[in-house]
Formats: sequence, structure tokens, C-alpha cells
Amino acid sequence: MPTELFQLRWGVAEQGYEWRDVSLRGHPLPEGARPVRLLVARGDADDIEMSARWYDPFVDALALFRTFADLAPTQEAIYKFANHYGWLHYSPPFVADPGAFQIHAPGSDDHARVVWGESLEQWIEAIGQVRYAVALWDRLQMNDREDLARYLRQEGLEQSFEREAGRRTGPVWTGHAALYTMVAAQLTNTLSAQPVWDADRQRLSLALVPANLFAALWLQFVNSVQGNIEYQKCAWCGKWFAIVPPQVRSSRAYCSTACRSKAYRKRQADARKLAATGVSLEEIASRLETTVETARGWIERQHRA
Ligand SMILES: [Zn+2]
Repeated sequence: MPTELFQLRWGVAEQGYEWRDVSLRGHPLPEGARPVRLLVARGDADDIEMSARWYDPFVDALALFRTFADLAPTQEAIYKFANHYGWLHYSPPFVADPGAFQIHAPGSDDHARVVWGESLEQWIEAIGQVRYAVALWDRLQMNDREDLARYLRQEGLEQSFEREAGRRTGPVWTGHAALYTMVAAQLTNTLSAQPVWDADRQRLSLALVPANLFAALWLQFVNSVQGNIEYQKCAWCGKWFAIVPPQVRSSRAYCSTACRSKAYRKRQADARKLAATGVSLEEIASRLETTVETARGWIERQHRA
């Protein structure tokens, strides 16, 4: 399915997000209990829709589910991600959904302003779910039945699917069935078909619109499973990008020409630095994984300049 069919206009709070300890509204903390750690938007929560920076994960970050699956389950990593891509569940205007708590800031009275946020536990759980699905899919693609069977047994999955199916079905079937179950749980009732304005063709179009960023990540994942799309990490900036056939994995190490030329300039500079410290041409070429001729070109270009 072409990705133009997917759309999500997602807002990131202009002033960003921060972690705060808060008690949930209507749930006074028992003596000694710890408040909930929430990621809240800075500034006035009522203005978020007005002041948000908008993006579309299907245009601006098509491999965002990979980035998310790689995210360390720490406050720092989540903080960075959220300040780039926003909350997982937030959908303007304020809609009560399982991802958003209504809270009072500590020390505030009943009439204090309401703050919205997402808890650290929710984020960690969400990362774990996507990471698990991506790891399973990667294993299914490697096509190693022994390894897959070991993995499924270790995750306690093989047995449950055998029981449900009433017969031995094999690791590949079990793996795909597990993927289906996970995705169905996430995407049932979180997608809707909506009329959208196709800016390129200047006309009406129909798009599949996820309810929130978390659903968008799952939709990206299903799309990559369905289209057998492989992703690779940029050797310069670390961003994930899709490998479009007929390219093969090794033929494209960088996400963009900008990253390619930055990496290229760095290798040239490295060659000159090594040459300046007396390293031989052969050694330079070998360290920078290039030919002696190319390395010589890089070094001599500097002398001419
Ligand atoms: Zn890059």
C-alpha cells in the first residue's frame, strides 16, 4: 500500500515537554506513596493546539517505529523522543483517552489548572510492545526456523499457539500469528478512513488516518511487514531509512546525499590527518577502507589547495 494513503497531522508542543511528579486527580496519595512521573507539556496546556509544531510521521519520519523500538526505556531517551515527535496518544482537542491522565500539579487546590501528561510506565510499556513486534518480525525475515523456534519457546509463545490451533503448526506460522494478534490489538478501532485534501493533485482523496502517534507507529510497522520493506541505519546520522528495491542493503549506507557528502568529507579529512602524522598511504587506505589511489587523491588535493 503506498504511504500517501496514510496521514496523520501530529502536534508537538512548541515549548516542549518535561518530566514532573504529580498526583492523579481524585486519587489522593496514601501516606508514603510516590506520585506518578508524568511527561507534561511546558507552558499553558490549553494552548497546545494553537502553539504546536505540526508534522506527518508518514512524510517526515516513515521509519519512526524503528527509532521508537530502539529507544532506551529511560526518562532521558523518552524526553528527547517526545520533544521531537510529541506525545504518543495526544489528540487535539483534548479527548479523554487511556493515554492521557487528568492531573493536578502538586500543591494545587481543586480549582488549579488541569495538566495533561503521559506516565513513564506507559512509555516504557509502549516501547516494549513495539520493540517486541519488530524483533519478532526481524527474526521471521531471517528465515531461521531453529532460531525462531527457540525464541518463541523462550517468550512462552509456541505452546499457547499450539493449544489454540489444536495441532502443531510450526514456528513460522506461530510467529506470524503472534504478530497478527499484536497488531490487531493495537490497530482495531484506532484507524479511520477520512477524506483528505491531496495537495499534490489538488483534489479530494481518501486516507487511512490513525487516531494518535502510537497507532501511526503500528501502521508504519504493518506497512513495512506487508510491503516487505527493509530498513537500515544511516552510517552518518543514525536515522533509519527504507531500502528501496532494487537497492541492496550494502549499496546505500546513508539516508541522504547530505549525510553521504558529510561522511565523505570526514574521510578525506581523516586521511589528511593520518598523513600528517606520518602514517603510510597503504595503512591510511586500509583504515579508511578505500584504495591507495583514492587515499592519495584525498591527501594531494589538500596540498594543491
Ligand atoms: Zn543520515
